[in-house]
Amino acid sequence: MFCPCCNSNLVTNHFLEDKDIPPMKNKSKIIYPKCSICGRPIQFTDVSKYMKENRKVLLITGTAGAGKTSIGQLIENKFNYIFVDGDAIQKRVNSYAKCDPNFQVDYQAETINTMLILIALGYNVVVGYIIYGETLKMYIDELEKYKITPIFRVLVPERNVCLDRDNTRECWTAGEVWVDKWYDEMRSYLTTQKSLCIDNSNETLEETLNNHFVKLL
Ligand SMILES: [Zn+2]
Repeated sequence: MFCPCCNSNLVTNHFLEDKDIPPMKNKSKIIYPKCSICGRPIQFTDVSKYMKENRKVLLITGTAGAGKTSIGQLIENKFNYIFVDGDAIQKRVNSYAKCDPNFQVDYQAETINTMLILIALGYNVVVGYIIYGETLKMYIDELEKYKITPIFRVLVPERNVCLDRDNTRECWTAGEVWVDKWYDEMRSYLTTQKSLCIDNSNETLEETLNNHFVKLL
């Protein structure tokens, strides 16, 4: 797969993290795959024919404070995965949209696009973002084109645990209204996909990893 701009081989000449944007306070990388020779952002059309069926994709959702980022970062650090933090994609999109009024702002589409580019570049991916209903279908439909079935899990700790975690973290706080809105959406998975829901209220991060995720990776 070659960069259409400088013709470099993108398999060996790419970087994943956008250092032009101030880093996330939660330490998630701002993933934006670019050609490391000319700096051009890699488009999915550059790499789409290199999609491989044997890549693994893990989608983790839950309201603010549920623990998506913490578990995603831990999986990235301990296993062979790249963590795509939806909030970091949002920051990236907002940052580029500021300089270009025609820039299309669609956080979920951009997260999906980034996920697909990473897969084509040869990585396993863990995504942490608010994903419900119709949006989940978008992820699944895109991956199905390449015969990849994502593993999907919903973190559903108790409301007060989410609020407490949301309030006490160092980076942005979503606030009670949003925690509750997303909390209700996420709890709806308890009726539709109960076996995929994880109550991590009384678990340490390591316990959540070992009890629910290690066997999936
Ligand atoms: Zn290039």
